[in-house]
Amino acid sequence: MKIINNKFPKLRSKMTGEYLKLYTETDDEYYELKAFLEDIKFKFFSITPKKDRPIKVIIKGLPRDTDTTDIHKDLIDSGFTVLKVTQLIGKITKQKLPVFLISLPRNIHNAKIFDLKKLSYLSINVEGFDNKGVTQCYSCNKFNHTANNCRLTPRCLKCGENHQTRECQIQHVEQAFCINCQVFGHMANYAKCPLYPKQKKVSPTNTKNNYTSIVNSLVRPNISYAQATKNNTTNPQQQMAPPVKAIPAAKTQTQANRVSTPSRLILFKILTLP
Ligand SMILES: [Zn+2]
Ligand SMILES: [Zn+2]
Ligand SMILES: [Zn+2]
Repeated sequence: MKIINNKFPKLRSKMTGEYLKLYTETDDEYYELKAFLEDIKFKFFSITPKKDRPIKVIIKGLPRDTDTTDIHKDLIDSGFTVLKVTQLIGKITKQKLPVFLISLPRNIHNAKIFDLKKLSYLSINVEGFDNKGVTQCYSCNKFNHTANNCRLTPRCLKCGENHQTRECQIQHVEQAFCINCQVFGHMANYAKCPLYPKQKKVSPTNTKNNYTSIVNSLVRPNISYAQATKNNTTNPQQQMAPPVKAIPAAKTQTQANRVSTPSRLILFKILTLP
């Protein structure tokens, strides 16, 4: 911590459970810190900054057998840049649903996808998509981050050794053992494991993938946590800065809670050493 603090004196840190959370104020500082921690081979994982997260929407109204490559092409023809098109699968039936998930790079132009009413000459419905499921890292099998952002030691679901589960030599596990809660009887990806996180409740009003929150993340990216809280304490009037034109006034998101969730508050979670 001393080495990190000497190099990044503005860093804020907070202990929660087994993790030490580190917060940077700017995106630049985030990338610098990440590179530094990788450099010194520190064990950590990070959370992708909002501006690097894609816009995710679902499209309804297209036939079930629509080819995803056709959707991709039609969206490009309509002027969007597209990262990925996937078709959703029913949880129980395992059948393809007439619902398509689209990921697009986060920019003002792509935010217009929320206004798209037609694709391939068919009327469609576009809705913001939020993953209500639990994110479990396939490398270390801990939660709330992806393997892309993981610099922790890999741990195998099957045998608990320091390799990823897909590299395991064991074909069939005789007796399941949970590497997270350390008991026999289930594996660490079992949804009823006591350490498995509760599903997030995402209501249409707090979704992060809607037109307003995406445009806000793009047009107000320069507000740092310090600026936001400074305005908050010294001049409450400034909280009332008018929202950018063309954005419908957010009904549920007040200026006050926008200040409490600034766009550049970025956290790292660092596994503390025993
Ligand atoms: Zn991980
Ligand atoms: Zn293994
Ligand atoms: Zn368990």
